[in-house]
Amino acid sequence: MKCPSALGVLIYFCSAVSSQGAEFGELRHKLVEEVAASARDDGFPLSPRVIAAMEKVERHRFVPAWLVPFAYLNHPLPIGHGQTISQPVVVAVMTELLNVKNGDKVLEIGTGSGYQAAVLAEIAKSVYSIEVIEPLEKQAAERLKSLGYGNVTVKMGDGYYGWPEAAPFDAIVVTAAASQIPPPLLKQLKPGGRMVIPLGMQFVTQYLMLVEKRADGSVTTRQIVPVAFVPLTGGH
Ligand code: SAM
Repeated sequence: MKCPSALGVLIYFCSAVSSQGAEFGELRHKLVEEVAASARDDGFPLSPRVIAAMEKVERHRFVPAWLVPFAYLNHPLPIGHGQTISQPVVVAVMTELLNVKNGDKVLEIGTGSGYQAAVLAEIAKSVYSIEVIEPLEKQAAERLKSLGYGNVTVKMGDGYYGWPEAAPFDAIVVTAAASQIPPPLLKQLKPGGRMVIPLGMQFVTQYLMLVEKRADGSVTTRQIVPVAFVPLTGGH
């Protein structure tokens, strides 16, 4: 999953600053092509529904105003409070691994900007998302509402404990790194469901894990790729 060069960033910045409205669509299309190629090269070909969702969601609406010119770089960006909006290729691969279908109910831990929730909401029937930092939760909830994502519900809290009142979920995605799979999340995953979660400590190698709960309730875990996520915090 390659990062753009400094020259690429500069060229992008100059072209993006001179861009208006509709041209974001062009930049987004180029980004999605780059993301699809990068994911394919890494062994994760993206399905048409994930590509369509990435094409649809306007990433420039999910970043601080001063970073809008960088929104269509395949790069994580700061969103305040020491947190980040994830790299687009990571969002795409996590969404692909979840194998979300139209009628699914999905739980996300770590709302952040709301971007991953919006991508999931383009595919799933409903998305529940939990954020531990109150100002981020408020901002993301308002943003998603104003963008018309009526099928996303956001709440503030420690996502380690999941959302028992809304469980069970067809898919669960955790967008902050945990030291272990939180048992409450495993409990709230439907038989036949999938969870994608980065495991490991900050500044040490973390791995994206695919957790599958079989119909008989047994659980398999598979290590997918090394990643770098902010830690899952909270009082657990
Ligand atoms: N999914 C986000 C997006 O699309 O912008 C990016 C998430 S950012 C990499 C990780 C987020 O997880 C941060 O906003 C952080 O505050 C949140 N977080 C960390 N620990 C958490 C916890 N225990 N419960 C809920 N959210 C948590």
